[in-house]
Amino acid sequence: MVQIEKMPQEFEDARAVLQKIEDAGFDAFFVGGSVRDTLLNKPIHDVDIASSAYPAEIKHIFKKTVDTGIEHGTVMVIHDGEGYEVTTFRTESGYQDFRRPDQVTFVRSLKEDLMRRDFTINAFALKEDRTVIDIFDGLSDLEHKIIRAVGDPHERFHEDALRMMRAVRFASQLDFKIEAKTLKAIEENNMLLGKISVERILVEFEKMMLGSKPNRGLEDMLTTKLNEYCPGFKDRSKELYQLTKYPLELLENPEQVWTMIAWSLKLTPQEVMPFLKQWKTSNDLIKNVSATLQVLSMDKNDQNERLALFNAGEANVVNAVRVAQILGMNREAWLDTYQNLQIKDTHEMAITGKELIQKGIIKPGPQMGQVLNRLKLMVINDELKNESLALLNAVNKLQKDD
Ligand code: ATP
Ligand code: MG
Repeated sequence: MVQIEKMPQEFEDARAVLQKIEDAGFDAFFVGGSVRDTLLNKPIHDVDIASSAYPAEIKHIFKKTVDTGIEHGTVMVIHDGEGYEVTTFRTESGYQDFRRPDQVTFVRSLKEDLMRRDFTINAFALKEDRTVIDIFDGLSDLEHKIIRAVGDPHERFHEDALRMMRAVRFASQLDFKIEAKTLKAIEENNMLLGKISVERILVEFEKMMLGSKPNRGLEDMLTTKLNEYCPGFKDRSKELYQLTKYPLELLENPEQVWTMIAWSLKLTPQEVMPFLKQWKTSNDLIKNVSATLQVLSMDKNDQNERLALFNAGEANVVNAVRVAQILGMNREAWLDTYQNLQIKDTHEMAITGKELIQKGIIKPGPQMGQVLNRLKLMVINDELKNESLALLNAVNKLQKDD
């Protein structure tokens, strides 16, 4: 019998919830990724509780509850101002569409609940007294750093094809090896990923790329050809393999991930938008990746460098510097140049169109925009001081020249 020496604080805080369920005569355990992460001495994020009590019984035991997903058996229990999701043990059956069970059945047996989970390292249960329940030898797999499907991998990937992406995601996050039979089953069932919504694939893909060993996850994804069933990745294995030669563990956020991908697929800034639309990323992300890619595509000492940096904005300049670093190019100077720009935003111009009109220098009309734009460009390029007198003189000069 294995016992955890010290429970993380998050579990300590939730122990009373388990105790209360047990006092009412039911079983209750911590389950899921937080038990795995505790055993790996990693910090935990979400506390998942599984119980033999049915939702109605949980609601009877606790004064304060919220129905968060009662049809799946989940009730949120409020304890000490904190919300805890308690999910009734359940089995799943059907899966005609390779992605969601046709039927969820509540059961009283922990074992049946653990059997429906994806990998042995995700199928532990932890009792309130710190005892670990390990039915599928997950502890041995943890020790040997192995990702192994619970039961028959073929069946498991047929039930839910997203699990194949989860496997490569965990390979990256944990730096684990996917066990041979599990890996083979991914390769043989890769086409089932086509049944899964892009949104769910996106979540796993980004987690993989931002894990501690993205090269490992990406390589697994490519050897099993999961990429063939991802938007825009079909027939691009060669380019994606090139990616694994770079220190991808330096990627810090989704913007950098997608800039790196777009770069390796040699997408032009115009091609980035339709590509990312297929992946259903947010419009903000598309905007930022396009801007970062614009910066990244500049030659050293490009004459439009200052304008490109201004247009990108600080966060995207930082992202471009980091992606350049991963690609083996030193572009730290972009950040210095950006920080020394006289203006970071058009609103910081020391003169406005309104003032120019009030002073009778320019009449309202299309010319106004052009003049202001030229002034802005000169300020960005440090050809002009961003001070009202200097700007006014420059306007007069521009008008005389025209
Ligand atoms: P993370 O650290 O990213 O939260 P996790 O393992 O907790 O990882 P979750 O998506 O939060 O992953 O799911 C919680 C648990 O539910 C998993 O540990 C696993 O036992 C089970 N689970 C989640 N998704 C699936 C799935 N698609 N198939 C089978 N079991 C799953
Ligand atoms: Mg989790």
